[in-house]
Amino acid sequence: MDNRLLAELLFGDIMTDRDSIMERYPKRELGEKAEVTRFSPSPTGYMHIGGLYAALISSKIARQSGGVFYLRIEDTDKKREVEHGTDEIISSLAEFGIKFDEGASADGEQEYGDYGPYRQSARGEIYRAFAKELVARGLAYPCFCTAEELEQTRKAQESQKLLPGYYGEYAKCRGLTYEQIEQKIKDGCEYVIRLRSPGKEDAKIVCRDIIRGNIEMPENITDVVLLKSDGIPTYHYAHVIDDYLMGTTTVIRGDEWISSYPIHHQLFEVSGLKMPRYAHIAPIMKLDGGENRKRKLSKRKDPEASVRYYSEQGFPYESVNEYLMTIASSGFEGWRMKNPDADISEYKFKLDKMSISGALFDMDKLLSVSRDVISRMSEEKLSRLITEWAAEYDPALSSYISNSADKFNESIKLWKYNGTKVRKDVAKWSDLTAMYDYLYVGAPKEYDFDTKIPADKRSEFISAYIAEYDPLDDSSQWFDRVKRVGEPLGFCPNIKEYKADPDKYVGSVADACGILRVAVTGKRNSPDLYTIMRLIGCDETINRLNKAK
Ligand code: GLU
Repeated sequence: MDNRLLAELLFGDIMTDRDSIMERYPKRELGEKAEVTRFSPSPTGYMHIGGLYAALISSKIARQSGGVFYLRIEDTDKKREVEHGTDEIISSLAEFGIKFDEGASADGEQEYGDYGPYRQSARGEIYRAFAKELVARGLAYPCFCTAEELEQTRKAQESQKLLPGYYGEYAKCRGLTYEQIEQKIKDGCEYVIRLRSPGKEDAKIVCRDIIRGNIEMPENITDVVLLKSDGIPTYHYAHVIDDYLMGTTTVIRGDEWISSYPIHHQLFEVSGLKMPRYAHIAPIMKLDGGENRKRKLSKRKDPEASVRYYSEQGFPYESVNEYLMTIASSGFEGWRMKNPDADISEYKFKLDKMSISGALFDMDKLLSVSRDVISRMSEEKLSRLITEWAAEYDPALSSYISNSADKFNESIKLWKYNGTKVRKDVAKWSDLTAMYDYLYVGAPKEYDFDTKIPADKRSEFISAYIAEYDPLDDSSQWFDRVKRVGEPLGFCPNIKEYKADPDKYVGSVADACGILRVAVTGKRNSPDLYTIMRLIGCDETINRLNKAK
């Protein structure tokens, strides 16, 4: 058959050709070691933490090598697409400090960069021109098999335990003549374009994965679909053409794609295109029922699978990124210990040191990493970040901040420091109204009084304290006053003396402070009580003391 004629029959509308397209994508002028990486999500409007993880690693690899990191939107599957899905992806990544050097932009905005279009839906002509060339070389052909026919083949192969797919005797359209094809097209039959796989049944290929090393795999022998019946490419074909034209040097993607590697290997080969390097990263896992029951973090079951969860909870993005780096690279924590104040961008990340098994997501670890990250932030930064977060997610805190900006800034000092030491209590902004509700929300609803002190003694002390309370006291006057009020009621002002003979007393000055603390905050532990009373003000302090009596 004259394959050129067939190519014209199938792609008569394509006026350009593969070589002219290749000229539009010249080799990038970058340093020898520069890496070009990409993030290429489908616009489903949902950003999985695993996507952020891959994006973070890809961006790091590009940036640390003086390369390019770009965004490509893989919108070839219209069923998965949601409205503004791309905007959601771009804005969630931006919230985590991830920016692209080139690529797709929000809907309706101009994309940027010379290697576009960066949305696959705008690249139809490119895929078709490449497919046309393969048809002209006899390496691709139209297939008219219906869904029912393919299902029958699948069942037959399954019952005989054969490799599933379109190959050998099952590749019914492989041998159609030009006339048969022409007739079917005239009859209005739908068709896909398939690769004419040159693969040999027992041949092997090697995937040289940067993370996993060499993986030997059987060569692809199936005539996979390149273009679907609507002319839209499959993931496999679009991946090969796009990553080649856009100059990707290392494809960093989830390890669920390893099994498709033989197809990609062959598609690069038949198309005469140089393959990029590959790094297949392991997914983030979660324990589910029992020590060894690991599963992937699931969009359906786990709220923490979505990056929105972290924004809503008020994790600073630095914390999440820092935590993801601890999962990604075993050397990171050691580096952080040595360089507590360095920016994460200074860490030299190596793909070949990544673990090949899926890391377990550990919320406690994230919280602890985040406490460290927050403890390193300046008061100004804390104030700015919390104000921004509260405006979006916490109306009570937000109105506190706008009504009492000075007090709010003072309250940051209160929970940030313990004397000259930095406290590490806060892991996320939603902790603020949970831990310090007595500052930002209002009077306590519950009281965790120490039952060691009888209730009548407690009330007696609170009443006496209210009568004596002076909001103008400084910190040491304040403490002296607690002692003075407590002593006649049986609260020993000297801890040592109290400890020597506790039965002689109702309690010590520490117990007296404890009563005031619970009366004002509801809790037995809090930062400096004197400052808390000052921050909530004289009237509110007295109200709360009266209420707690
Ligand atoms: N669009 C693919 C996905 O969402 C990307 C895989 C890749 O990075 O090549 O899974």
